[in-house]
Amino acid sequence: MSEVIKTKVLVVGGGPGGYVAAIRCGQLGLDTVLVEGDQLGGTCLIRGCIPSKAMIHAASEFSSMVETARKPQFGISLTSPPELDLAGTVAWKDSIVNRLNTGVGALLKRAKVKVIEGWGRFSDAKTCQVETSDGTVTIQSEHVILATGSAPVELPFLPMGGKVISSAEALSLAELPRKLVVVGAGYIGLELGIAYAKLGSDVTVVESTDRILPLYDKQLVEPVRQWLEKHGVKLHLNACAKGERDDGLAVELDDGSEVVLPADNILVTVGRKPLTEGWGMENMVLEMDGRFVKVDEQCATSTKNVWAIGDLVGEPMLAHKASAQGEVVAEIIAGKKRRFDPVAIPAVCFTEPEIVSVGVDAGAPNTTTGVFPMAASGRALSMNAGDSGGFVRVVAHSGTHRILGVQAVGAHISELTAAFTTAIEMGATVGDIESIIQAHPTMGEMFQEASLKVLGHAIHA
Ligand code: FAD
Repeated sequence: MSEVIKTKVLVVGGGPGGYVAAIRCGQLGLDTVLVEGDQLGGTCLIRGCIPSKAMIHAASEFSSMVETARKPQFGISLTSPPELDLAGTVAWKDSIVNRLNTGVGALLKRAKVKVIEGWGRFSDAKTCQVETSDGTVTIQSEHVILATGSAPVELPFLPMGGKVISSAEALSLAELPRKLVVVGAGYIGLELGIAYAKLGSDVTVVESTDRILPLYDKQLVEPVRQWLEKHGVKLHLNACAKGERDDGLAVELDDGSEVVLPADNILVTVGRKPLTEGWGMENMVLEMDGRFVKVDEQCATSTKNVWAIGDLVGEPMLAHKASAQGEVVAEIIAGKKRRFDPVAIPAVCFTEPEIVSVGVDAGAPNTTTGVFPMAASGRALSMNAGDSGGFVRVVAHSGTHRILGVQAVGAHISELTAAFTTAIEMGATVGDIESIIQAHPTMGEMFQEASLKVLGHAIHA
């Protein structure tokens, strides 16, 4: 069967960029078709943000029980260590993914978006052929929103397959690797490496630069480094993976020597690349910005009425950026005046402990900082989170005291991201934060105290 559909908006890719764009288009009354070749929810929901956080949560629960069985804590003891059924953990994680995937389908339906399952391929900028289980569907659209996302970067000398896996496979392993080597100490590698360490794997991390989480400053990363050290996760910095060997991964260490690190699995997390191949981009005449599709502040590409969003168009490759761009583009197509021009986009590492960074970093010209340690927070101590070296750091303009950035590290700190980002985006000064009454005992008090530190009169530190 061959079908032709004419529509106002065609969205290709059903990840957090594409599905949000499609829902918003539908809400705005635009006739909208969404094409997804895999599963609704994209990388984020199916093999990224959500499943990784579920596995991280399960791993934390397990390790806490292991800890309690080893040594009673909070007056609680366990008479025997807990047992891990990894298949059960993965099934629980899958149940969350499936629930959200179904939810996205329902939201699209409610917004009257037509979803077509199949891989789309453009023959020109406004015409897309989709191979579905019922035959080829040709879609002709006035507007096209490209949201094809990204894929893991592969190392040519360490191709995926067998024991060499990407983050996607790491989220659904059949067996717990006794020995796991993680190549790349960015946030994805460390989040998963730490989760596996908590589940009981012997984890080694290999990183080619001289530090973990190279995008964050040393002070922020130090508590994570200390956690790795304390929990026996081995770290090889300035070390280069060379290739797979029968018994593991060959690595050149920083002193030039070569060793083979034993591994049941080698998890390669050396970055992600925009998905620019396999869907006919070459037929669309799109200007590029390096490896990304070039867009302006409205997410417009160089071809009229072709828009692009999410991981396809650049850093930060984060789900909330993709969704925000999706909303903006939908509203522009509907005739509203919008631009994608955020003051700050938050980034969170769900490591142990967690790291949050929003806006300008400490040390920027004309800024002053206030740091409040987690060890002085009653709430942090009451959650056993006071001794991890955590802190909240507020970066304010030296003259106006306007908050330009906030960085924080510590257990559960990700939940403060909304407060930090809202303050920055709304142009709050440290004085504004000072005057807001925070509930006690909550982690939010640390934001207020760090702001008071900028003013030189914190109460609890
Ligand atoms: P994607 O989510 O990649 O979706 C693109 C979709 O398009 C896919 O479903 C794909 O099948 C489909 N597609 C592509 N081409 C075609 C075609 N031709 N026809 C039909 N369908 C097509 N981000 C965060 O913000 N927070 C996190 O905690 C976080 N954790 C992560 C953890 C991991 C392990 C990984 C891998 C990523 C994580 N990310 C996180 C990043 C986040 O997943 C991405 O930034 C986000 O998914 C990008 O959204 P997107 O809509 O641009 O693309």
